[in-house]
Amino acid sequence: MTDDRPPRGDRGVSLLGSTGSIGTSALDLIERLERAPGTPRFRVVALAASRSVDRLAAQVARFEPLVACIGTEALAAELKTKIGKRSTRVVWGSEGLRQAATLPEADFVLAGIVGAAGLEPTCAAVKAGKVVGLANKEALVCAGDLMIREAAGSGAQLLPIDSEHNALHQCLRGERIAEVRRLVLTASGGPFLDWKGELDDVTPEQALAHPTWDMGPKISIDSATLMNKALEVIEAYWLYGVPADRIAVVVHPQSTIHSMVEFVDGSFICQLGAADMRHPIQYALTYPDRCPTPLEPVEPASMPALTFREPDRDRFPCLDFGWRALEAGGTMPAVLNAANEVAVQAFLDRSMLFTDIPRVIDAVMRAHEPAAASSLETIHEADRWARDEAAQQVARSAAAANRSGGSACSTR
Ligand code: MG
Repeated sequence: MTDDRPPRGDRGVSLLGSTGSIGTSALDLIERLERAPGTPRFRVVALAASRSVDRLAAQVARFEPLVACIGTEALAAELKTKIGKRSTRVVWGSEGLRQAATLPEADFVLAGIVGAAGLEPTCAAVKAGKVVGLANKEALVCAGDLMIREAAGSGAQLLPIDSEHNALHQCLRGERIAEVRRLVLTASGGPFLDWKGELDDVTPEQALAHPTWDMGPKISIDSATLMNKALEVIEAYWLYGVPADRIAVVVHPQSTIHSMVEFVDGSFICQLGAADMRHPIQYALTYPDRCPTPLEPVEPASMPALTFREPDRDRFPCLDFGWRALEAGGTMPAVLNAANEVAVQAFLDRSMLFTDIPRVIDAVMRAHEPAAASSLETIHEADRWARDEAAQQVARSAAAANRSGGSACSTR
């Protein structure tokens, strides 16, 4: 890892997904940094949200960006009315997102849009040679090869904000990848780590109650199934170029160690700290510098006792889908991601059981013939195919549940 960027003055920041969990954390951090003495200042130059027009309007009033982007033309009209005479330019849809991602005034683009929807603007920011804070793991999962190649061509810098990869980035500063034995991602284990009952019976509310991290609904369900860790294995593979069989996962329920690197000489370097996404966001925003945090410091003596254990691969079959998708290669990781998005939504909608999530994904992956993921078009095509296939599998699961009289759908 080299720290070769010039010193900065005020840096322009574009936030894609500004009303989501990562976006609001980033804005909170930027405001705190603004008030703290001796810390760098950031200028919010673009904000992009999909539907939360009221929240976006409030953010525009507070940060006065050059550009604000919302999902549709109708919402854009509503946003314009709400922000009144401000000079912020309102844009919408995928073209608007592209503008927010490539704005000349943006030095740093925070890619915080959940799911495959974040793929295109993240790629656009990479192509434009931005410093990209990657909170959207799906971009690397679906299009890792493409993103890494584009970044090499444009000079874009990819800084992971996902806490595990951010931890690995910190552990690898000044180290040689050739001397790495394993990257070890830590997993909290989610809300069902020590669940005594049947996982068939769990509700979306129970699955959303994450023990250590406060996150959006999609990623909370992914944490409960351990799919989040499967996606993170793929993400680590592309970010650090370490073979898949040298990426490991260990359950660490306290979420204090955010990940670790084991070196060939037997030494481990771990990164630890509070389970607060504002820390990795600050690391990425200020990289390669470190500046005083405006957040509450942590006393080591107040940390819980740290424990580690093997993940339960039988109970959480989604975990192994990460390695399986990497082994199949090409479009398979994009298919895994799309099938998972559909399955998670079906569970949240109470159309099927929690344990149907891995079943649906497994069936979709089995039916897929991977192609080379050489362009965004191919990846989109695989994504669309997987969504259709997953929707059919979801319908089958729902029908089976109804036939058996029990029901994923009606009793909860
Ligand atoms: Mg993570």
